[in-house]
Amino acid sequence: MKEENCIFCKIAAGEIPSTALYEDDDFRVILDVGPASKGHALIIPKDHYRNLYDLDDELASKALLLAKRMTVKLKDVLECDGYNIIQNNEEAAGQTVFHFHMHMIPRYHGDKVGIGWHMGELKEKEKEEILNKLK
Ligand code: AMP
Ligand code: ZN
Repeated sequence: MKEENCIFCKIAAGEIPSTALYEDDDFRVILDVGPASKGHALIIPKDHYRNLYDLDDELASKALLLAKRMTVKLKDVLECDGYNIIQNNEEAAGQTVFHFHMHMIPRYHGDKVGIGWHMGELKEKEKEEILNKLK
């Protein structure tokens, strides 16, 4: 399943140039053109899914396994000190390309990569509400 005018469909199919680190029947792994740090890469499935909400179950499992294998290898290649795996869903969460992808962002001691949040407080009322609605 491809979607017309989707840049990641075209990249995954090799129709638009990219720096590919890995490829198999399901995925292409490329270097991000706007890297947060040296070695920032993206795991992109060849089929089109808008994001995690509608990603095929089997591909979801394969994507995480691939992230594991790639980061285990790349951490030695890049000599980085850590890794963030990030995956954005919808605009409110920072998604800008609406074709599922996983970011693999190498981290280096002292880097200025800004991933984080201010810790809030788990309120009793919110906790109850979430648990009740989940039932
Ligand atoms: P997101 O904000 O999670 O949707 O991430 C989209 C990512 O795709 C950003 O980090 C962009 O830098 C990256 N990106 C956009 N176009 C390209 C491209 N042609 N090749 C490689 N990475 C791209
Ligand atoms: Zn697509």
